[in-house]
Amino acid sequence: MYPLELYFGGTFNPIHHGHLQVALEISEQLSANTVYLLPNYLPPHKASPDVSADHRAKMCQLACQIDNKFKLDSRELNSNGTSYTIATLKQLRSEKPDISLCFLIGMDSLQTLDTWREWQSLTDHAHLVVAARGGYQAEFNADIKAFLQQHQTLNYQDLSQQKSGLVYLTQTSELMISASQIRARYQNKQNCLCLLPSAVNEYIMHNHLYQR
Ligand code: ATP
Repeated sequence: MYPLELYFGGTFNPIHHGHLQVALEISEQLSANTVYLLPNYLPPHKASPDVSADHRAKMCQLACQIDNKFKLDSRELNSNGTSYTIATLKQLRSEKPDISLCFLIGMDSLQTLDTWREWQSLTDHAHLVVAARGGYQAEFNADIKAFLQQHQTLNYQDLSQQKSGLVYLTQTSELMISASQIRARYQNKQNCLCLLPSAVNEYIMHNHLYQR
């Protein structure tokens, strides 16, 4: 048995209850004491965020207040350049050689995983734990299907029996919340308090983010 650590990468522009609820549920199922939120500096697959890395980090820090399981890992922001998950996982693995390293992604990210740099090597360094996401079915192209055939486990307990190499699809709550929906609501001056932590809402209002 290896101690298990959960890392959740994303743009978090802004972080919302869709992220936080699935992360909590997965940490409970896997008995992980900590969920590290790992905001991207410049996401390779998305347009550059319109809100600075510093703002996104501060919003993640505020979101950490909702449960002491959440911690901010700002290494990708501090790297000051495009951050590839493969490089981050290699770095984490060299820092923590004896843990089961679980990298959390949503179903939509799994569906496009073959666009990520060195995607088939991600499991050399970590497990991939996939959150269900409302609006996204478990449907994959041939390359991802083949990858799943090689790596998928149906038993979450396998994740602590080895340090990396597996893909586990979880059945978490499917909250139909996205950061793009939230950005559009702020732009339209609509209330977002049911979608993200109130401290994050206050930060957004105070700093006039997303409101242009
Ligand atoms: P955007 O709407 O700008 O694309 P997003 O809401 O998808 O943003 P990201 O920061 O890009 O948020 O997501 C980080 C990770 O969280 C991704 O792997 C994504 O699949 C996952 N994720 C985001 N929202 C949800 C949700 N509601 N349920 C499950 N997973 C989610």
